[in-house]
Amino acid sequence: VQFTKLRLSGFKSFVDPTELVIQPGMTGIVGPNGCGKSNLLEALRWVMGETSAKLIRGAEMDDVIFAGTSRRPARNLAEVSLVLDNSTRRAPVAFNDHVELEISRRIEREAGSAYRINGKDVRARDVQLLFADASVGSRSPALVGQGRISTIINSKPRDRRQILEEAAGISGLHSRRHEAELRLKAAEGNLVRVDDVVGQLT
Ligand code: ATP
Repeated sequence: VQFTKLRLSGFKSFVDPTELVIQPGMTGIVGPNGCGKSNLLEALRWVMGETSAKLIRGAEMDDVIFAGTSRRPARNLAEVSLVLDNSTRRAPVAFNDHVELEISRRIEREAGSAYRINGKDVRARDVQLLFADASVGSRSPALVGQGRISTIINSKPRDRRQILEEAAGISGLHSRRHEAELRLKAAEGNLVRVDDVVGQLT
């Protein structure tokens, strides 16, 4: 699935409704310090169902709501929507009859979050699973925060390889291979035992 649009309103420094168009390929966000680059990445994580306030630099979830400035009053509501292009029909079956999927999360002060997929109320779990099945998610290594690039450049080749493999979505294959090897070893052990038994019988 391809992300096509990110809409924010009342989320952190994005107090006014803002729409960003996301083109295919890699997307980078540049701008001066404090202009909200990290807030955008956090908006993406948040709409995908992130439950840890700490990971989006807050003490509690309500901290994502615009807290006001000397010139503007605080808000009581924040909303982020992410539009996905599903023309290749890769979305989970339950949502696969839509060419476009719009996932939104809204939070009201002291009232918690509510999620919707194409206008229909859903659970946080439904949103988290939708992204997990599409091999992304709020903790995906495909979301590269500031500082992460220098970590990659300065890391040892072995560590760098692990980071790249994670981003390529193949680290899951390594753990599956390990499991398969253990099963194979167990099966080999069983075969030796069967041979012993057969040897005793003949
Ligand atoms: P840097 O390059 O310094 O890391 P950045 O472009 O990543 O900066 P962010 O950290 O995304 O910027 O944005 C920080 C700005 O967002 C700060 O000015 C901060 O006051 C503002 N901000 C964060 N949370 C809120 C909030 N709940 N309400 C209002 N403003 C907020």
